[in-house]
Amino acid sequence: ARAKYEGVAYLAFSNELASAMFGRYELLQDLREAILNNEIVAYFQPKVSLKDNALIGFEALARWEHKTRGFVSPELFISLAESSGLIDKLDRQMLRQSCRAIKALKGIGINVPISVNVAGNEIIRPDYFSNFKTILEEEQAPAELIELEITESQLINEKATINRHLSALKTLGVHTNIDDFGTGYSSLAYLSTLSVSTLKVDHSFVWQMEESEKDFEILKMIIELGNILGLSVIAEGIETEQQKAHLLSLGCENGQGYLFAKPMSLENTIHWVQSGQ
Ligand code: C2E
Ligand code: MG
Ligand code: MG
Ligand code: MG
Repeated sequence: ARAKYEGVAYLAFSNELASAMFGRYELLQDLREAILNNEIVAYFQPKVSLKDNALIGFEALARWEHKTRGFVSPELFISLAESSGLIDKLDRQMLRQSCRAIKALKGIGINVPISVNVAGNEIIRPDYFSNFKTILEEEQAPAELIELEITESQLINEKATINRHLSALKTLGVHTNIDDFGTGYSSLAYLSTLSVSTLKVDHSFVWQMEESEKDFEILKMIIELGNILGLSVIAEGIETEQQKAHLLSLGCENGQGYLFAKPMSLENTIHWVQSGQ
């Protein structure tokens, strides 16, 4: 009735807004249910040594196949999980599935680490470390084959807490990667005190280095920074042989990307390994 007075534009806008909100609310309800029912699945993307394509590890990435919408974009459901307090539970499930994957791979003679992603508002929780440790114990997984990925942009707040947790994890043998490196704001002073072992160069530098001199130079600098700080460097998002060749020529040793393999279910990961990649 109100729309009659205020015009069609208002009606169209309010319907659109209402349906967007309803869609988001519905999706959140479905996500909550999917997490409660353990329906989010960890996929695994290989990490390789660039000089010989040898497998050096995997990254676990969450995949949600919705019953009517199909696969939902991780960017969407991860942000939904982060803003609704569901991310802790989801990430614990990904850790548990990764522990099981490590054992399954061990069964076929493959002993490589698997990295799991952690949300920024999660790692600062007081019980983060004890929860992590409990899962490793329950799953009887070798801690030295689990790694953590935390994005550089999440490292700005509560530095002391984060470093305390990363140090505690390191005593278990769990190494940490700084994800999407080059897009955050960590200071060099902070970086040098942080308990981390690997810089993961953000894909944007890999994708733009051939067109942008600036990105090429930044990439070069990140690789040198890794050398200076004694951290290993891995480039993400490698899609072409040319990108790989450029990275190799800059001294980047490791990589990850569709050129080698997309993230795969555990079953397909095992097939991929057994078929000699
Ligand atoms: P990320 O940790 O930086 O993961 C890398 C993303 O790049 C993944 O997207 C991966 O599928 C994609 N990727 C890898 N190689 C290529 C390539 O060659 N080309 C292109 N175009 N893309 C490539 P995905 O799986 O959509 O995940 C997006 C982000 O969502 C992740 O970024 C991570 O921040 C977050 N995420 C995913 N799974 C989890 C999880 O279990 N827990 C948490 N907390 N975050 C997660
Ligand atoms: Mg990651
Ligand atoms: Mg990344
Ligand atoms: Mg990312």
